[in-house]
Amino acid sequence: MDAPETVLHVAAAVRDAAGVAARPGAVAVQGDRILAAGALDDVQRHALERAPDRTIDHGEVLLTPAFVNAHAHLDLTAIGPRAFEGTFLDWVGMVMRERPTSAADIRAAVAAGLRRSQDAGVGWVGDIAGSDEAVLARALADDGIRVPGVSWLEVFGIGSRTGAGIESAESRLATLRAACAGAGEVRVDLQPHAPYSAGLALFERAAELGSPSTHLAETEAELEFVTSASGPFRDLLTRLRGDDPMLEGAGTTPVRAFAAALRRSTWVLAHCNYVEDADLDVLAGCPGVVVAYCPIASEYFGHRGHRYRDMLARGIPVALGTDSILCQPPDEEFPLGILPACRRLRARDGTDPGTLLTMATVHGAHALGLESGAATLARGAPARFATLAIDSRDPTDPWLQCLGG
Ligand SMILES: [Zn+2]
Repeated sequence: MDAPETVLHVAAAVRDAAGVAARPGAVAVQGDRILAAGALDDVQRHALERAPDRTIDHGEVLLTPAFVNAHAHLDLTAIGPRAFEGTFLDWVGMVMRERPTSAADIRAAVAAGLRRSQDAGVGWVGDIAGSDEAVLARALADDGIRVPGVSWLEVFGIGSRTGAGIESAESRLATLRAACAGAGEVRVDLQPHAPYSAGLALFERAAELGSPSTHLAETEAELEFVTSASGPFRDLLTRLRGDDPMLEGAGTTPVRAFAAALRRSTWVLAHCNYVEDADLDVLAGCPGVVVAYCPIASEYFGHRGHRYRDMLARGIPVALGTDSILCQPPDEEFPLGILPACRRLRARDGTDPGTLLTMATVHGAHALGLESGAATLARGAPARFATLAIDSRDPTDPWLQCLGG
């Protein structure tokens, strides 16, 4: 059998978060795996045993590993960006009314989301699937767009409905895993929706069944609900199906109330906008936890002062996400990209460029449970890249140029 084709990718600069940085640079690829990456001369002269079958000169770009979007809602892509009006509950109501419901519309929305992710240089997505159809559309995408990662099926069940929620989640997960078994590159797991819609027992069962995700510590209303079973989310649940005496306050924060479940598995915790020092201590003691911070979405909803740097300082990995396209600015060319999130944190907080690249790639790979080396340019890593326009005559560091300085 012939060896797979070797391709030399040449770029004005190459960079990853695992030690590769060169300008000009090159990445040699055989089949779908990286053979070598670094300075153009080194890769050409020393890393390749023979001349490559093909050379692709990408020109005036910084070539990086493809980015990882650790928290997306691809099935909402059809709605498009929306202004945030009213309360969070009004907004949730709008999403419920406008989200696609027919199988064909869900498939089209997920396909559009995958295409927009790929166009933005995103190579892996952690997607929250609002329906079985969204999982199938993601895992079995058949129009040539390959964006591996995870599909987390959103499940509900709280108070007196927790048991029924667990039963339903178990059977849907088993059916979907069987249906997607051939898909290979997309793992299927559960997303207990949030502490105001899924009970602790459902969180614990999701952890027993795999590596789940959830929305955690997202709003002050959630904090109130978890602490004392009161506030806007209690009112919503009562409106939807009458008073539920099984709903009880935990007397503490969401992170601490759910700590037992968080310790049980690897988890991706979307948002964590409202955390205290004691919560950070708990998270730092959960070795499987990765926080998925969605800076543009957090700002859209008015949350301020995210503690991602405190988390990183305590050894808690923080990956980046977009949340849904609804939260993105209407004029953003790449609304499902991770580079806009990096640029936002650079402009707002002056965050270290290397830290941002780590969050956008390596921590994202960790969040999605990808193979070792994924989202780096290391030998043997999957050959999935982003190419970002730069000015090669500008002496400014290429990645810093991409971040807007
Ligand atoms: Zn979300």
